[in-house]
Amino acid sequence: MVYIGVTPSQTEGGRVTVNQDYLDAVWRAGAIPILLPLTDDESRLDHMLRQLDGLLLTGGGDIDPLRYGAEKQPWCGPITPERDAMEFFLVRRVMALDLPLLAICRGEQVLSCALGGTLYQDIEKEFGGEIRHPRQDLPRDPVHEAELMPGSLLCAVMGANRIQVNSRHHQAVRRPGAGLIISARTEGLTEGIEAPLHRFVLGVQWHPESLCDRYPKHQALFDALVRACQNA
Ligand code: MN
Repeated sequence: MVYIGVTPSQTEGGRVTVNQDYLDAVWRAGAIPILLPLTDDESRLDHMLRQLDGLLLTGGGDIDPLRYGAEKQPWCGPITPERDAMEFFLVRRVMALDLPLLAICRGEQVLSCALGGTLYQDIEKEFGGEIRHPRQDLPRDPVHEAELMPGSLLCAVMGANRIQVNSRHHQAVRRPGAGLIISARTEGLTEGIEAPLHRFVLGVQWHPESLCDRYPKHQALFDALVRACQNA
């Protein structure tokens, strides 16, 4: 059996939560999702990681801009330093161990920043463009297109050069971290990244877990993650 660690969100009242969609998508792919406790203790995290076959970095709030060498702008949202510390450490360990990783929304941004990348702290303020990306009003529906880079892992997994995606983000990858390539774009804005020298390290800016019940094509990302774990 394959065990996929799922990182939790940290809420203000001292709770950790996860959207059920992530867990369902992992179950559907034939693996067991393991909701990880929130901790920035590196030795605990190392012990946890040893029990897992792969990792799913979930969506959530904004990353502390200090982590990518920027000053926090008024349009950056609330930050969660303990979660940042946990997920940045996990990315570096997962890369060193070459464990399969699927990183979604905030997770994609964490993947990039943990490897030295930077972010737009707000797309509208710092990038512009015609498309509105924070579409929390349509959480489970495609709202814009993404172009996938031919020859990329993402393109192979999705089996298409263009796909329709949902969009629940106000930040985005500005400069990808070391060893990462951009594998999806919308109007020049990064919507997907991957690490070509690793077996399966993939980040997407959209939320496939909220699409895959009605748009089954998006389940392919979770199926591919679990397959990569089985082939380890
Ligand atoms: Mn988007």
